[in-house]
Amino acid sequence: MDADTKAVWLDENHITAVLEARGIEDTGLVTETLAKAEELRGLSMEDAAALLAVRDPELRERIFLAAARVKERIYGKRVVLFAPLYFSSLCSNECLYCAFRRRNNAVRRRALSMQEIDAETRILLRQGHKRLLLVAGEAYPGSGIDYVLETIDTVYAARENGASIRRVNVNLAPLSVEDFRRLGERHIGTFQLFQETYHRPTYAEVHLAGPKRDFDWRASSFDRAMLAGIDDVGMGLLYGLYDWRFETLAMLSHIAHLEERFGVGCHTISVPRMEPAAGSDMALRPPHPLGDDDFLLLVAVLRLAVPYTGIILSTRESAPLRQRALELGVSQISAGSRTSPGGYAEAADENDDNTDFDAAQFRRGDCRGLEEVVADLAERGYIPSFCTGCYRKGRTGKDFMDLARPGLIRRKCTPNALSTFEEYLLDYASPATRAVGENAIARCLEDMDDDVRQTSDRLLLKVRDGQRDVYC
Ligand code: SAM
Ligand code: SF4
Repeated sequence: MDADTKAVWLDENHITAVLEARGIEDTGLVTETLAKAEELRGLSMEDAAALLAVRDPELRERIFLAAARVKERIYGKRVVLFAPLYFSSLCSNECLYCAFRRRNNAVRRRALSMQEIDAETRILLRQGHKRLLLVAGEAYPGSGIDYVLETIDTVYAARENGASIRRVNVNLAPLSVEDFRRLGERHIGTFQLFQETYHRPTYAEVHLAGPKRDFDWRASSFDRAMLAGIDDVGMGLLYGLYDWRFETLAMLSHIAHLEERFGVGCHTISVPRMEPAAGSDMALRPPHPLGDDDFLLLVAVLRLAVPYTGIILSTRESAPLRQRALELGVSQISAGSRTSPGGYAEAADENDDNTDFDAAQFRRGDCRGLEEVVADLAERGYIPSFCTGCYRKGRTGKDFMDLARPGLIRRKCTPNALSTFEEYLLDYASPATRAVGENAIARCLEDMDDDVRQTSDRLLLKVRDGQRDVYC
């Protein structure tokens, strides 16, 4: 079998056997596993299974504390912010959980023109965003993949008061090696793709028509992306479709496969849970719902299992849950999002409450605008980051991981987070948010090692002097 088109690494029987062997809560094993995790070298599938088996609230609390410590040691107070930009809801697939599925008449559909994409981008620039995630259904109008490539060019070319988007990530359907190569030439940041479920029978049951029915073509996407030179990939799956413990172990085995074959796993992991979507009965009643407590355990275990991998949480989740997940391991969140094409231009105000549900992919749990999220984070001592430094300095893939392990994230990311946050405060924030933000920056500087502090002071001075887009 060919690993470029088949998920040769996925061994369902082995995953099931590991879950059975490690299915009974074992305090001694958990203690041993947590000690290993705190050395920041990650966890095997067996180790992760031992932690995922924990049901006792006190033992879970020990996992949460370990995850919070690992999170703090690697990432400090930095939280990366981004916004999704949905540019088309046309789709040829029939995914039962999604509002964009082909046969759904309950949703208003559109593919944005380049002018509209420019307008959406400029709205996000006016809010202060610097990192966007492009999202679309799988049926591109007219020229197919060329439409996607043109969209990326349009987003990068958009200007608003001299500001531009500095990093475009994409969440798109699988491509051939040749099309991945063309995508890579557009200087994307991360190529994201969620497997939805690693359980083949469930996958077949919920994907009824269209190219997405091919499980293996999807599960081998990152192999083709990496062969095409895209070394920055983002994994994920849709929690709610099948047993969350099985899915999580399968995703870890997917990461292990990439590490073994290409020397680098994934740059980020997304953890979406199924949300209500117009015209989807399944999304209202997920077959395997994942409750909040288990969801938080899952985030904590991922943080311990792959400590240097970014964990992304979207506005699917409510503000209080996002807050707790940030403590336990999430390192990137979206803010002020719309999940309908043209949704930013249509929104009457930044905080409106799912008024676009009839055109959106799913219901949002956190409808706050970017500034409200920024102020809230800063009040809690976090440093909202709009940094795009690593990608623009070419620190991606294996280079990033090699540098991340000896402490890159703190030495580079913290100064870059502070300089981009300062830019945001000076250029976009109200006086009240600015005051809260400056306070958070001052507190963060107090806690720093001397060399990181010097780099941070130097970058902050440049920004306060009027320079923009400074990073190390
Ligand atoms: N159409 C492409 C695909 O399916 O890979 C890319 C974009 S798709 C709009 C992005 C992701 O949205 C999907 O991979 C799926 O995990 C997620 N999604 C779909 N329906 C959802 C729902 N009801 N709740 C939460 N997430 C959902
Ligand atoms: Fe289309 Fe993606 Fe939605 Fe499936 S999840 S219906 S492929 S947009």
